[in-house]
Amino acid sequence: MEHKVTIKESSSLYSKILNTILFSMLIFFVIMLIARYRKREALPAGFRGETSEDFNESKDIDVRFSDVAGNAEAKDNMQDIIEFLKDPDKFKKFGVKIPKGIILYGPPGTGKTLLAKALAGEAGAAFIATSGSNFVEKYVGVGASRIRKLFGEARKKAPAIIFIDEIDAVGGKRGAEGSGNSEDAKTLNQLLVEMDGFKDDENIIVVAATNRLDMLDDALIRAGRFDRHVMVGLPDLNSRYEILKVHAKNKPLSEEVDLFQVAKQTVYMSGADLSGVMNEAAIYAIKEDNLKITLKHIDKAINKIVAGDEKKDRSNISDLEKKITAYHEAGHTVIAKLLNKESVPKVSIIPTTKGAAGYTLINPNEKMFQTKTEILNKISGLLGGRAAEEIIFGKQNITGGASNDLQRATKMALTLITKYGMSEKLGLVSFDDREISLQNELILNETKQILDKIYKKTLDYILLNKDKLEAVAQSLLNSEIINENELDILLAI
Ligand code: ADP
Ligand code: ZN
Repeated sequence: MEHKVTIKESSSLYSKILNTILFSMLIFFVIMLIARYRKREALPAGFRGETSEDFNESKDIDVRFSDVAGNAEAKDNMQDIIEFLKDPDKFKKFGVKIPKGIILYGPPGTGKTLLAKALAGEAGAAFIATSGSNFVEKYVGVGASRIRKLFGEARKKAPAIIFIDEIDAVGGKRGAEGSGNSEDAKTLNQLLVEMDGFKDDENIIVVAATNRLDMLDDALIRAGRFDRHVMVGLPDLNSRYEILKVHAKNKPLSEEVDLFQVAKQTVYMSGADLSGVMNEAAIYAIKEDNLKITLKHIDKAINKIVAGDEKKDRSNISDLEKKITAYHEAGHTVIAKLLNKESVPKVSIIPTTKGAAGYTLINPNEKMFQTKTEILNKISGLLGGRAAEEIIFGKQNITGGASNDLQRATKMALTLITKYGMSEKLGLVSFDDREISLQNELILNETKQILDKIYKKTLDYILLNKDKLEAVAQSLLNSEIINENELDILLAI
């Protein structure tokens, strides 16, 4: 007994001492941190002198092209660069000029960063990554000095890949929109100077990524600088299948899961989205203490990535709001299934955390080219929600719930007339994005006219199929979610 007590006492004494020491150490660290932070804040960034905080450097990259699924053209396009970095002399003997810079362009999450990393991994080159936004500075000369430092670092580590994400932040068209920030211009100039100054034996390749190639300054994409442009697009069916396989590799899947079917259900998803689907599915399985990921988990994960989580608390939705949502989604569904012959795996009027009152999941028919009729019908599908609202509740009672639909419909109509040369009034024209503006009266009028015309047709089509609209809406009001099989029965297809 006694013995125990002494131990207790002594241990509490020890812990008191220990606590005191730890506590003073903690205070000391906090003070140090504050002091450091203050010092950093007080100095313009260029004078901080810690490269590792501006750029992300790594030597032995373990990412390979085999980790990048799909993107075959992009990989082909970089094959010679790997050979060059591995054995530059072979190329020099033949007087071959290897590009100094490559631009990877395409939507976010399609694997541009991953590709650049894999390029470094394959070539055994150092990978030095940064983002264009790191060079946007208000301090005089800081952006330019950081560029110098970036290339200095790469020279030390060569062979090296410099990766600049969001290159448009520094490489946007100069003088565009009258902004012409002179600091940004200096930074861009410095980048051009560095690239022009590359000598033949400096084994450095600059890879830059952007969502918008057409926004870049012409000087940047001229021969001798970033003269190789590689499109990295959204994955097609097969690529989605490959990407899903990559991200399922280290996860236990139930036998019923057919990843090819999952690929079919995930049109318009990027590689990052697909990786998110597999990850969320795994989390759902773990939450349920399941040993394997089932179709149900994957289904839920797809919904989450597309629409956000289902809202738990739905008490604040009125019956009228529910009814409007049901008819709105039924409107989309009728056009998608009956007019466009698209597959609709799910319609829901459960509100989501992403702010949607409901949603209609549509798997469009994947094709290389769409005809004008198909595009017009697709716009009709987007307008179907608003049209159904007007038919059931009257012109005065339409809601703002269609704003996202209208945005997408407008964009499609705009693309049709300004890029595909499919409008009678504008004729065979195709502009780049900077040349297109709804401020232009001709473009605005033509867009409006197309949308008006399709809206009228959509109203007619839904009126003609009003019994089907009613059937879908009523079923939604009863069960909140309808899947494809139930839809086929309701619509009798
Ligand atoms: P980007 O640079 O184009 O915005 P990232 O390369 O950062 O896209 O992609 C984000 C993540 O998405 C990657 O780390 C990877 O997990 C996944 N991913 C994207 N594309 C692919 C792909 N083609 N194959 C495998 N995974 C991919
Ligand atoms: Zn809608």
